[in-house]
Amino acid sequence: MIDQERIKQFLIELIKIDSLSRQEFNVAMRLKRELEELGASVLIDDAGAKVGGNVGNVIGKFPGNAPQCQPLLLSAHMDTVVPGEGIVPILEGDILRTNGQTVLGGDDKSGVAIICEVLRAIKEQKLPCGAIDVVFTICEEAGLIGAKCLDVAQFRARTGLVLDSDSVGFLFTKAPAANRMEFRVHGLEAHAGVCPEKGINAIKVAAEGIAQMPLGRIDHETTANIGVVEGGMAVNIVPNQVILKGEARSHSPEKLAQQTERMQRCLEEAAARHALELNGKHHQARIETKIERDYDRMDVPASASIVQLVQAAARNLNLDVKTGATGGGCDANILNQKGLVVANLGTGMREIHTVNEWLDLKDLYLSAQMVLEIVKLNAENNSRQE
Ligand SMILES: [Zn+2]
Repeated sequence: MIDQERIKQFLIELIKIDSLSRQEFNVAMRLKRELEELGASVLIDDAGAKVGGNVGNVIGKFPGNAPQCQPLLLSAHMDTVVPGEGIVPILEGDILRTNGQTVLGGDDKSGVAIICEVLRAIKEQKLPCGAIDVVFTICEEAGLIGAKCLDVAQFRARTGLVLDSDSVGFLFTKAPAANRMEFRVHGLEAHAGVCPEKGINAIKVAAEGIAQMPLGRIDHETTANIGVVEGGMAVNIVPNQVILKGEARSHSPEKLAQQTERMQRCLEEAAARHALELNGKHHQARIETKIERDYDRMDVPASASIVQLVQAAARNLNLDVKTGATGGGCDANILNQKGLVVANLGTGMREIHTVNEWLDLKDLYLSAQMVLEIVKLNAENNSRQE
């Protein structure tokens, strides 16, 4: 069994430690101490230096006491989104929320707290368990860049769980691939009142391009967004540059490529419509495009041992856990991309990335109980096979 009071107190303690992306040092030190106390050898990798943060990923290795068992990876991220400093957690019954000024940071301190409580329960109750690699990442919210820096060759585990989902009772096995895009729309600068005919308005070009773009939910497995528009200097200047930042995601690599290409083409077609001759010189609006793969899709098959393990644990506890697809990307995308087989389990966090974020502790306890059962079953399954 897990200790409900202990996990609640630990979660609240973690929530009170500020840990915006790239500023996870204090929470990382607290977790290093926790993991060492629990019997792990702990190292902090060099991801912090690589991403401009103040600490790296925290990696704890537990030897376990069932050496014949398949090693498991358990992971959660340490950073939280803004506004996330000076969080004041408020507990009403089983509901944990904030004073409305900040996020709660249950994303993903709930995942961190679950992992620590499970390890503590195993140690305290001397439960059989295989080797466990614990990974607490930095900068998940900054584009999964802590996980991107991980050297997975150091892990014994080839499969496991990320605890970082707001869907209670769901095991996410599928997540989309995503492309990140930046478009620079170049026009021509001119005085807006004296000689506007000598200018090409980059904002107008950008607007025409965006207006033609399919955005939002494209189909059941594809989404697209333009999320940032920057440009213009003053109301009396015809603007010569606009920067657009956007993304597309899809569970289908072909659709992702099509959607990305379409967004680029809409802007190029808009630019092609804007040109002028000035003193014998031809000026043409143009688009500079930068596209990069943010992360690959996650697609863990139902037959994977980790999915089977989660479902068997759910049956043992009389819980209903469904596998599903999410539209979000998380560290699990990166871990799968790096060759591991990792699914994402719900922790109880809700309305994440808003100041209304809340968490029902009953969900947290159930999720922790599930993870404990998974670790126990993993040890039993493999010793039976011996
Ligand atoms: Zn998260």
